[in-house]
Amino acid sequence: MRTVTHPEHEHDATTGDKGMNKARPARLDLRAASGGGLFDYAPAPESVRPDIADRYGLFIDGSFVEPGSGNWFPSINPATEGTMSMIAEASTADVDRAVKAAREALPAWSGLPAKERGKYLYRIARRMQERARELAVLETLDGGKPIKESRDVDVPLACAHFFYHAGWADKLKFALPGRDPKPVGVCGQIIPWNFPLLMLAWKIAPALACGNTVVLKPAETTSLTALRFAEICAEIGLPKGVVNIVTGAGETGRAIVEHDGIDKIAFTGSTQVGKMIAKAVAPTNKRLTLELGGKSANIIFEDASLDQAIEGIIEGIYFNQGHVCCAGSRLFVQESILDTVIDKLSDRMSSLRVGDPMDKNTDVGAINSKEQLATISKYLTLGDKEGAVRHDVCNSSLPDKGFWCRPCFYSGVQPSHTIAREEIFGPVLAVMSFRTPEEAISRANNSPYGLAAGVWTDKGSKIFDVARRLDAGIVWLNTYNKFDPTSPFGGYKESGFGREGGRHGLLAYCR
Ligand code: NAD
Ligand code: MN
Repeated sequence: MRTVTHPEHEHDATTGDKGMNKARPARLDLRAASGGGLFDYAPAPESVRPDIADRYGLFIDGSFVEPGSGNWFPSINPATEGTMSMIAEASTADVDRAVKAAREALPAWSGLPAKERGKYLYRIARRMQERARELAVLETLDGGKPIKESRDVDVPLACAHFFYHAGWADKLKFALPGRDPKPVGVCGQIIPWNFPLLMLAWKIAPALACGNTVVLKPAETTSLTALRFAEICAEIGLPKGVVNIVTGAGETGRAIVEHDGIDKIAFTGSTQVGKMIAKAVAPTNKRLTLELGGKSANIIFEDASLDQAIEGIIEGIYFNQGHVCCAGSRLFVQESILDTVIDKLSDRMSSLRVGDPMDKNTDVGAINSKEQLATISKYLTLGDKEGAVRHDVCNSSLPDKGFWCRPCFYSGVQPSHTIAREEIFGPVLAVMSFRTPEEAISRANNSPYGLAAGVWTDKGSKIFDVARRLDAGIVWLNTYNKFDPTSPFGGYKESGFGREGGRHGLLAYCR
């Protein structure tokens, strides 16, 4: 294994091999000069601790019910490995109950004056805002993401999606001019663990706005905010059966996909499971949208504003522990600035704080599950073995318990390396170089995925030329990972099909 450590942490170097990284001049190290304490913040733990029940049933037809299966599974806090609550596992018969409830609720819900449907969505959005702190804390405890992310990104965006779609409910004819949009029917929705409440909002808000009813399954490691959302639906008096939440793992998901009474499947998750779902749905009349994995490229040109770019690149891959489908996990750097970018990246990363997700100063939280940590570790081993140079430049100490991974990046990466081709879904960046814009575009497009991309340059003409030629559903220009309900999101190639958000997203939920 060849690794490179930040010069400030040279005592950590295992081999001393600096690979392609030139020796750098010694810097004044204020952190070391002050005994490591000068720039350290005092702990700033989030103080809100919402009540969490010992166990949660299934939300079917407007109330919480026991699972017919009689089975329960634990939801873990990945930062402590402690069990937070026991979650009901929905069997095929339980899914059937939920689908029947959604079917029964459909005529009345889709028959409501559109304006009245919109009012329910506004009520949901306002109640989510009122309970925002509690939702953010639950998201962080159950999933491991830093509280500053769930508080400032996930929950506000989830609320914004309900507000946005509340506005569309009585304006669908304007969204789809010349047509008379009708709901698709009962929607089966399956979501992942990386943005539990936000993915729920992306799925449920447009479905309800267009007059559909839903059966939604959260991921098995992060059920708690979906169950709070169910409480909110009951609190605001949403007609029973319009939203049903069934918890469980892959088998429960499969029961949804295979149920005859479902008109549309919306899935976000791995490409592997997405392909299985596409096969299962192909011979049926069900509609399908898939939002799958990615291996998105961030392209940085020599004329870019470098410090701004570094900040965006860091946010693009290390934000949310790299558990982001559109993470900028491949960085293409113009050759003339490669050394400078590697230096600046190392400097900035050395100050990232990894640790307690409930601390307001934490940058990188816990890896969502033991399984995901094992997957990431497998890729690190492969990256080392195949000959890339690992830069272990983040020196943050790690808690004793929980699932943790220090963010790192690789240089000397070949396009054939596994870490350059496959989705890692962790805080690991592959840095590669290019000479001309043509080369950057062809290398960025050389991937089975096509979800997102980022372009960093000061030249407007280059921005538009390059963006147009990238095979990606979303291209960010001089920024990264910025979301807005008005903007459609979705991929090309093995990243899936269909769009969520914006006017385009409504199409998936209308006939
Ligand atoms: P996954 O695809 O296994 O799970 C996503 C959702 O699908 C979960 O709710 C899961 O319970 C459900 N599911 C699993 N098997 C199913 C089946 N046979 N039929 C129906 N539903 C099923 O993803 P994961 O295990 O959570 O993570 C594995 C990989 O998926 C990650 O490492 C990453 O590469 C990718 N991923 C992508 C996204 C994204 O937003 N695009 C999100 C999470 C994970
Ligand atoms: Mn959990």
